Amino acid sequence: MKPYEHILVAVDFLPGSEDIGQRATELMKHYGARLSLIHVVEYLPVTLDNELIAPLSMDVEKQLVANAQRQLEEYAARVGLTECRRYVEMGSAKLEILRVAEEAGVDLIVVGRHGRHGLARLLGSTASAVLHTASCDVLAVKLGV
Ligand code: AMP
Repeated sequence: MKPYEHILVAVDFLPGSEDIGQRATELMKHYGARLSLIHVVEYLPVTLDNELIAPLSMDVEKQLVANAQRQLEEYAARVGLTECRRYVEMGSAKLEILRVAEEAGVDLIVVGRHGRHGLARLLGSTASAVLHTASCDVLAVKLGV
């Protein structure tokens, strides 16, 4: 089988996120692959009833993206990743992860999997959406938190 060449790690900064980065780093070293990080600032300008609400002002949007860039940089340092591309996108996490993966020629996406049950599971999960839709391999790291 062809070795992985480009691994994309999806990071939401929740507890356990470092486990995902560490697992991905092991794979990166094993395969001699490139590694990129992505965080999506989730802001959808609709209510739960699908009614449109005002989009964020450019200033607020810029601030959210700048905060996320800083957090992603700190995350990379904590996980010991010095050379990696960092994507900060805005929108729906699953759609942006899939879009960047396609555009950047990623052949493995690494996400976390929280052992959720009941309602939270019914509401849908980024991990399962990515798992079922991605056109490349997906590793879902089970998080023990
Ligand atoms: P969830 O399905 O929402 O419980 O999230 C599972 C995994 O999806 C997380 O551990 C991350 O790998 C990824 N993920 C969720 N939300 C985001 C986000 N906003 N940006 C990047 N990755 C995310």
